[in-house]
Amino acid sequence: MNIFLKIDNMIKNTILNLDTINSEYSFIFEEAVADRYFCNCGEQFISANEEEVVDLQHVLSGESEKDELYGGIYKDIKLSLDKKIVCPHCDKNYNNQDVKRKLITIGEFFISGYEFQETDTDLIIYYAKACPGLAKREDEDGNKEYKVVFDESIKYIRFEKETKKLFYREFGDSPEVEFGLDNVIRYVNKFFIVETDKVIDIYKLHLYINRLANFVSDTRNGNIVHEFLSFIRNTPNDVGINFIKKLLSIFYGIIKYSNLSTIALTKSSQFLYELMLECEIPSSEEMEQSGATSPVNIFNFLVNKYINKLNEEVNEDNKDAHDFYFKSKNRVEYEKDTNKSEDDLNYKVVDEDVEASYLVRQNKSYKGGKVVNADGKFQVLDAVEDGTISKFIYKKIENFSQYKQIIKYFKFYDKKGVISLLQKYDLELLTHAIDAFYFRSKMEPGELDRVLQIIESFVETRFFFKDYKNVKDFSFVEYDDAQLMMEVMEFDPKKHFNKIKTYDELVEYHDNLVKFYKVKSEIEKSGAIEEFVSKFRFLETVGEGDYEGPLEVVLFDTAGRIMKEGPEMRHSASEYAVNVAQGTYLMGSVFDRDPNRPAKEMERYTIGFKYDSKYKELVFDQVKGFANELGSNRFKKLVMEYLTDKDISFQPIKDLRLKDEDGVEKL
Ligand SMILES: [Zn+2]
Repeated sequence: MNIFLKIDNMIKNTILNLDTINSEYSFIFEEAVADRYFCNCGEQFISANEEEVVDLQHVLSGESEKDELYGGIYKDIKLSLDKKIVCPHCDKNYNNQDVKRKLITIGEFFISGYEFQETDTDLIIYYAKACPGLAKREDEDGNKEYKVVFDESIKYIRFEKETKKLFYREFGDSPEVEFGLDNVIRYVNKFFIVETDKVIDIYKLHLYINRLANFVSDTRNGNIVHEFLSFIRNTPNDVGINFIKKLLSIFYGIIKYSNLSTIALTKSSQFLYELMLECEIPSSEEMEQSGATSPVNIFNFLVNKYINKLNEEVNEDNKDAHDFYFKSKNRVEYEKDTNKSEDDLNYKVVDEDVEASYLVRQNKSYKGGKVVNADGKFQVLDAVEDGTISKFIYKKIENFSQYKQIIKYFKFYDKKGVISLLQKYDLELLTHAIDAFYFRSKMEPGELDRVLQIIESFVETRFFFKDYKNVKDFSFVEYDDAQLMMEVMEFDPKKHFNKIKTYDELVEYHDNLVKFYKVKSEIEKSGAIEEFVSKFRFLETVGEGDYEGPLEVVLFDTAGRIMKEGPEMRHSASEYAVNVAQGTYLMGSVFDRDPNRPAKEMERYTIGFKYDSKYKELVFDQVKGFANELGSNRFKKLVMEYLTDKDISFQPIKDLRLKDEDGVEKL
């Protein structure tokens, strides 16, 4: 027998039992001149709206969507204000909101539901949606008869018991497609798109899961499957479609690669789901070829893909990972005169804290443990790819979201550093705190220790309950301001500032500094800053063989101006304030005066330059709009033109990199 014919015979073409739906819902067939009502009492009646048609001639004459919209609104108003629509048989008032809610327009999907079917060979879970249609019949005398009929659309997932193959079919005439491990989440999500407010027979999903469980369960994971099932049985009200969706993804996942269950066993099923979701899980064949069977090995194999993605993300904004796109004359000269060859050196670091030793490959341009130049390509986070660290982190974390947060620390620190953080600090503190400084510059371990303690005390003392989610309200304003004022007033941070361990102490110290600072004269406050900035006034000039473009640059030459910028633009610019006072950084505003600037684009940005004392030159560092927003391609091009004209070296970091039409960055 033809296999396709067999499947076609097996698949149901009607699922929803709508025999009684006519007594629950009423239906309306809308036409220009009159609306036909099918009342749930069985009565049919016509409500003419000729009057309105005349009234609304000017609105309804057009066919545009807008007119239809106004027409609809106007009709609603008319219905509720002047025109009473009442069923002549049962007196139901169609102006009543509750009645209207159960009045369905012909052609609108209004109800959907599930069905489960088991045959000798298959388990099939269906989802169907239905809409009312109008059937018309005319007898010999020309009398017309109308009837509401229902039309169902069906989609399903079919599981072949013997082969353990999975198939999906979309609504309509779509063909059935087989899907594997790599597409489990995609098809489960497609299946669970709910299309109507009213959904019936959700319990059929539970029946399906109960049966499917027999094909998931084996001696190893029997317990976990059992746990799920008893959870569903005992808390039927808590088990929404979202839970079922995750559960089915996990079940199908385990059916397709049974070793996945070890992740759910050693961590949790939620953990397994997040891992499948975030890591672009490969096909079962690829999983088998990987040879990964133990939970840590499977975890390692899967997170690799995720790490590569993150790797690219971190590198995009990592200045150490990019060569210069444009080099100033100064830099070109310097490089010509200096031997630039750098030898890789290999050495061994033995970690005292954990029973492991690492071989770290470094070269001279290795900065802060985050970048390794391998095969001419820069690799961040190579540390994570080796099993040792993953095993350590895997044991520590409870969910995958924590993993995502922890590996962000590799932007700044090497594996030794990250392991020691994990040993020292609360996991919740670490996972929440990283977002507070991920976009700032790297802090040396001593400073990081202080900042983590300050954040911890902020969460503890400023809120009624200690909840690490409140880290999001922490700001570095006092911290950065204090550093700038200390620099200006020549206070030694080692004396007091570097000993601050709580948020209250920080605020108190900051407020005291402000008192001293206020009585200082403007010359004392900003004299050194002004002197440093004055060397770079050429950045502000336009014309005469100089820059001719539409950008206007204004440098900040007072401490007060610099301190204002961070809070005004809601970005992390203030962290560089202290560097300006030290003469190693320059900040200013860029105003986009391009007449072609679309109105929705920002006009004001903050620009930062690093002063490189080795090359005795300014290097472009960043250009950020309000809340760290980046400019458009048009703006980025203008900035690059400006930098080139002013002979400022720059790297192709995110702030300048052009995006293609789809918003994907070009390399
Ligand atoms: Zn009625």
